[in-house]
Amino acid sequence: MRNSIDGKNIVIIGSGIGGLSAGIILPLLNFRVTVVEKNPLPGGLMRSYSRSGFDCPVGVHYVGALGEKEPLGKMFHILGIPVDELFTPMGQQGIIDRYIFDDLIFDLPAGLDALEEKLQNAFPEDTTALNVIMKNLRDISRRMMEPSFLLNQGDPFQNMDYYQPMGELLDNFQASAGFRAVLSVPCHLIGVPLNDCPIIFHHMVLASYLLSSWRLKESGSKMTDVFVRRFKELGGSLILNNGVKKISLVEGKVAGVILESGENLPADAVVAAIHPKILLELLDEDALRDSFRRRIRGLKETEGVIAVQASVDAAAHPEIDHNIYRLSKNENGVIEDGAFYQLRRTHSPGANLLSIMTKSSYEEWSRWENTVSGRRGKDYEEKKMNLANILLKKAEEHFGNLKDAQILDVYTPLTIRDYVNTPEGSCYGAMRSARQLLKVVSLNNIPIPGLCLAGQNAMAPGVMGCVLGAFNAARQIAGSEKFIQKFQRDA
Ligand SMILES: Cc1cc2nc3c(=O)[nH]c(=O)nc-3n(C[C@H](O)[C@H](O)[C@H](O)COP(=O)(O)OP(=O)(O)OC[C@H]3O[C@@H](n4cnc5c(N)ncnc54)[C@H](O)[C@@H]3O)c2cc1C
Repeated sequence: MRNSIDGKNIVIIGSGIGGLSAGIILPLLNFRVTVVEKNPLPGGLMRSYSRSGFDCPVGVHYVGALGEKEPLGKMFHILGIPVDELFTPMGQQGIIDRYIFDDLIFDLPAGLDALEEKLQNAFPEDTTALNVIMKNLRDISRRMMEPSFLLNQGDPFQNMDYYQPMGELLDNFQASAGFRAVLSVPCHLIGVPLNDCPIIFHHMVLASYLLSSWRLKESGSKMTDVFVRRFKELGGSLILNNGVKKISLVEGKVAGVILESGENLPADAVVAAIHPKILLELLDEDALRDSFRRRIRGLKETEGVIAVQASVDAAAHPEIDHNIYRLSKNENGVIEDGAFYQLRRTHSPGANLLSIMTKSSYEEWSRWENTVSGRRGKDYEEKKMNLANILLKKAEEHFGNLKDAQILDVYTPLTIRDYVNTPEGSCYGAMRSARQLLKVVSLNNIPIPGLCLAGQNAMAPGVMGCVLGAFNAARQIAGSEKFIQKFQRDA
């Protein structure tokens, strides 16, 4: 959106963290906001769900950079979201993540200096590469702390060298397999292969977790409640269980939305905090040039996951305050396979929650792609449970005997697809790879006056990426001058 909006009424499609964050920022800039959500409950992937009394996470396992002077911390402060009420710092025992390979264990420590020391000790033959990477990492984390990161769409994005794929950088230095594998994990985390993952995204993810890492104190549902509470406090109205069917345009400009119920909501601008491929379905065929449509339709998605939630005996399996990644790499250090584990305390006496996630392609589930959640049939349930049992068995390598563990729930890419309308159930939306970077960047400039994108496809995925994208959407709507004036003191 090239020009700011004169009017006052904004409709936001989608109540995930992207939509709700935009829904909080815009009233701070004096806009009237309505958030429309297709599901009966708000929160999208941020929200957790309950099974047999256990609260199971979906899209918030840990977040980075929530400290007071750090980018996400500053953004939460501006939003009026209390970090202390929701999050607890990780790394108190010195470890944020443990990466376990067949022949190597690497503990990701808190802080850039600590990481440098650890990598130097573990991979002395990679000193030249390490020096370059640490210099870039420090540069990017310094820029992430500057006000311009928040106010001007983030300076680090302006250095073209950072668009080089991380794999290419490591190739240039003939990095050892172990060094390459350890540094691949942030790419693995955001679902972009190392050889196609721009340095900027790798370093932003790694830097944010190194600045500080945090887990939810309670649950994603509590986090959603706090976001909704703040949104309503600022006068926002939330429509649930009533998706947007169509975005209406008058003379090529946004005029409002039509809901599934048939209701018409007029709007001066619409923020689509949904997947861009879903956005296309809400627009008339001739609203966008064919080439723009094709560009969006052709975007490659990040992969989905299969996730298992199991209750375990708390005495035998006490909480672990870091995450565990069990990873397999080939002889070149390329990660081929992996599982993520989190073992958390729960409110149920005597029981803890083990969450397991591993990549799962959409193709693997395409047999059931024309079915809906809860009605996919016996074969699907069987396949899901077989895989879940295999994953649980493999987890014994790290957690000991899990014979008494109870599987509470298993979700697949199809579950995520249907729950939040993300094509192929991709975890992080369209892939922000070097190869399709220009295409994804162009999403930030939808050529329809009054329409802009927010959520994980706008700027970057993850909690930080979505909140940053919401600030960016608000800046587009309010105009840079008004936006900077309002937020520069806290940026
Ligand atoms: C398994 C998994 C684990 C993750 N772990 C982490 C993590 O540990 N840390 C981290 O930072 N990030 C993590 N992420 C990523 C993070 O959860 C997402 O980037 C973020 O939640 C996306 O938010 P969003 O607002 O863009 O989209 P969503 O949360 O998908 O919200 C979009 C909303 O729009 C609604 N909607 C769609 N179409 C319509 C329509 N037509 N009308 C009305 N409403 C509509 C959907 O129902 C949904 O509620 C994870 C993601 C997944 C899937």
